[in-house]
Amino acid sequence: MVDTGMIASSTEPLGVAIFGATGSIGQSTLAVLRLHPERYRVHALVAHHQIDRLWQDMQAFRPSVVGVACPQAAAELRLRLRQAWPEADRPEVLDEPEAIARLAADAAVSIVVAAIVGTAGLASTWAAMRAGKRVLLANKESLVAAGALMMQAARESGAVLLPVDSEHNAIFQCLPVGVPPVDAVEKLLLTASGGPFRTRPLATFPEITVADACRHPNWSMGRKISVDSASMMNKGLEVIEAAWLFGVPPARIEVVVHPESIIHSMVQFADGSVLAQMGRPDMRTPIAHALAWPDRVASGVAPLDLCALTGLHFEPPDPLRFPCLQLAYDALAAGGAVPLIVNAANEVAVAAFLAEQLAFVEIAPLIEATVNRATAGTDFAAARSIAEVLDQDARARRLAEQILAQQFGAFAPPAPLSKVDSL
Ligand code: NAD
Ligand code: MG
Repeated sequence: MVDTGMIASSTEPLGVAIFGATGSIGQSTLAVLRLHPERYRVHALVAHHQIDRLWQDMQAFRPSVVGVACPQAAAELRLRLRQAWPEADRPEVLDEPEAIARLAADAAVSIVVAAIVGTAGLASTWAAMRAGKRVLLANKESLVAAGALMMQAARESGAVLLPVDSEHNAIFQCLPVGVPPVDAVEKLLLTASGGPFRTRPLATFPEITVADACRHPNWSMGRKISVDSASMMNKGLEVIEAAWLFGVPPARIEVVVHPESIIHSMVQFADGSVLAQMGRPDMRTPIAHALAWPDRVASGVAPLDLCALTGLHFEPPDPLRFPCLQLAYDALAAGGAVPLIVNAANEVAVAAFLAEQLAFVEIAPLIEATVNRATAGTDFAAARSIAEVLDQDARARRLAEQILAQQFGAFAPPAPLSKVDSL
C-alpha cells in the first residue's frame, strides 16, 4: 500500500534529485520544476551520456552534483566544465555507479525522481527507498523486479512512495487517502490506449518496423516504453506495479483499452461507484501531482476541453494481438522471481527488436522461452536482497541472450518502405 506520510512543511525549497534527467520523464519533471523555483531546488541531475542536453539543464537549474553513468561522457563533461564554468559554483561530476546511486540518499535531497529506464534504475530507487525519501516512481521495472524488497524498505524507512506512472497516479488519486483498498475496492481498472497496433490487421504484424512500434498515438515517450506500449508489455508491467503499490491481487486488477487516453485509470468500489481520473495525456500532470501531494500545483498542462472530445471508448484487450499482457499476469500469479525474469527477458527482447535483430512478433515467444528455461531449474528462488535481484537480473538477461542467439537469430528486418517503393 502506498504510504501516505507527508513532507514536513518548509519555507526552504525542497532538494530534488532526478535520475534519468535527460529522458522523457526527466525532461517533463524539469518543465514542472521550472514553474516553481520557490518550492523546489534541483540538487542533482543524473543521466547516462547525453551531456549536451544535461549542459543546457545545468545552466538553467544550477545543480550541485551531476551523475553521468557513461565514464567517457563524464570525462567530456568535466573538461567542458573546467573550460567554461565559473569555478565558484562548478558542480561535481560523478560517474561511479555506487556514488551515483548514493546521491538518492543525500541529506540535501528530499525528493527523488526515479526515471531511469529499465533495471538500470534499481540501485538508485533502492537507495531512495532505504533513505526514507519522497520517491516519485516512474521506473516501474524496480517494482516488477524487486517489489517485495522495495515495499518493505519503504515501510521500514518511512519513504513516501508516489506513483508517477499515469495509471497508478490516477488510482492513487481515486483511492481514499490512507485507506488500504482491501474490501471497499472491488477492482482497479487500468486503462490502456492499445498503442499503435490496436486496429492493425493481425496478418501484417510480422512486418512491424521499429518506426511503427515507436509511433504511439497519444503519448510521447522513450523508445523502450514505446515498444512496451505497442506490445502491451507496458500494461503487463503496470499490472504487477499496481499489485505491489496498492496491495491488490491480480484477479482484482483489470485492463481496459481506452484509445483516447483521457481517463488514466479508475477504481471500482463495492457500492457500484467507479471513480476515474481524467486529463490530457501529458506526464507533467502526474509528475506535478506527485511533487506537490497533498497540495496541488500548476503543471503547465492546458485544461481538458470536455466539449472538444469526440467520445470516450472502451474495449477489452485482444489476447491474440497482445500476448505479453497474459505473460505478465502469469508471472504475477507465479510470483517469486518470475516477474523479474519476464522483465529482464523483455528488456533483452526490446533491445534486440530496436536493433532489428528480432521481429516484433518474436518478443513474446522470446520472453516465454526464457521464463520456461529459467523456471525449469532451481536457480531462481525469490531474491532476499537487492544484490540477489541484480544477480538474477544479470543471469536472466544472459539466458535470454543465449536463447535469442540460438532460436531467434534468423530475423531479417523488412525492407524500408522507400526501398519497396523503388523496386
Ligand atoms: P527515456 O529513454 O526517455 O529516458 C531514460 C533516462 O534514463 C535517460 O535520461 C537516460 O540517460 C537514463 N539512463 C538510462 N540508463 C542509465 C544508466 N545506466 N544510468 C543512469 N541513467 C540512465 O525513458 P522514459 O520514457 O523517460 O522512461 C523512464 C522510466 O519511466 C521508464 O521506467 C518508463 O517505464 C517510465 N515511464 C515513462 C513514461 C513516459 O511517458 N515516458 C510514463 C510512465 C512511466
Ligand atoms: Mg503508464
